Amino acid sequence: MAYYAVPLSKLIEQFERLPGIGRKTAQRLAFFVLNGTDEQARVFAQAILDAKGKMHTCKVCQNLTDGDVCSICGNPSRDHATICVVEDPRDVVAFERTRDYNGLYHVLHGVISPMDGIGPDQLHVKELLGRVADGVKEVILATNPDVEGEATALYISRLIKPLGVKVTRIAYGIPVGGELEYADEITLSRALEGRSEIG
Ligand code: ZN
Repeated sequence: MAYYAVPLSKLIEQFERLPGIGRKTAQRLAFFVLNGTDEQARVFAQAILDAKGKMHTCKVCQNLTDGDVCSICGNPSRDHATICVVEDPRDVVAFERTRDYNGLYHVLHGVISPMDGIGPDQLHVKELLGRVADGVKEVILATNPDVEGEATALYISRLIKPLGVKVTRIAYGIPVGGELEYADEITLSRALEGRSEIG
């Protein structure tokens, strides 16, 4: 880094901290910023500060929002009796893209992972239980189909089922464009379990 003056090397270092960015890309991005106008640099820096300063979690579903309540929870035309539980705000975006789901969400911001010292108390499980007690009919558990996601789904279903609420788990299957021959046993047996009638 001695090749660069301090302000430039600091900028490169910041880009290099970003996920998926190596040293070479970081240098390219830093030079791109330097070659732009002062106004472009200001807008870029301000966007980072605004996003960090104004975004927080929805007080109902824990999704990211710049208001008190997110636009999904605040939408009266959505089905407020169905809650889809996801690990991450990016999962909400993924479901919204399908345009097939009209219920609400609950974002855990992680999964139970004893290896990383993350227990139910570090997730937003308590808030979920509070919501379920409030007239919810179905809770869809949409955590990832890995060990932690499965354990988290199981944990939550054991808490919610006694409350008399329907608890479902998203079905897994063979990815579109995938080949059965290469699918692992768990994926295949889950695909079979979650089969549906045609037509
Ligand atoms: Zn919300």
